[in-house]
Amino acid sequence: MYCPYCRNADSRVVDSRLADDGSAIRRRRQCPECGRRFSTVETTSLSVIKRSGVAEPFSRSKVINGARKACQGRPVSEDDLALLAQEVEETIRASGVAEIQAHEVGLAILQPLQKLDQVAYLRFASVYQSFESLEDFETAIAALRADSARAGSVPAGAQRPLTAQ
Ligand SMILES: [Zn+2]
Repeated sequence: MYCPYCRNADSRVVDSRLADDGSAIRRRRQCPECGRRFSTVETTSLSVIKRSGVAEPFSRSKVINGARKACQGRPVSEDDLALLAQEVEETIRASGVAEIQAHEVGLAILQPLQKLDQVAYLRFASVYQSFESLEDFETAIAALRADSARAGSVPAGAQRPLTAQ
């Protein structure tokens, strides 16, 4: 990587540390030519493909904004939303993909949102899974009841479709 000050083509790593809960590595570098220091941040690239086909970098704040709308008036804090967005990002990154459809990001929000608040979950699911009738809500609520009855939590990433097509 070029030195941003003198454009020298070489630099030496003087310090590396994990950043952003381990999803990034921050390196402090020194240019052997001019001696100045600069930082680089290394993350795996993760792109979200929008419906229009345009790719944009994955953004936790977009996840938070989407979930926040569903959580209006519910006992869900900003910290809860931040944790949810972190969980969504970790789930997606753990799957090893470099790009993901925007719709799939919505689906990845469903699981942690269900654990957080069931009303918010139903609101969110009704939009992202295009509920069209009362039956769709009834199916989703029946699935929620079945999950609660099963006592244990659903394994992360185990997403089953809530609606029959
Ligand atoms: Zn330099």
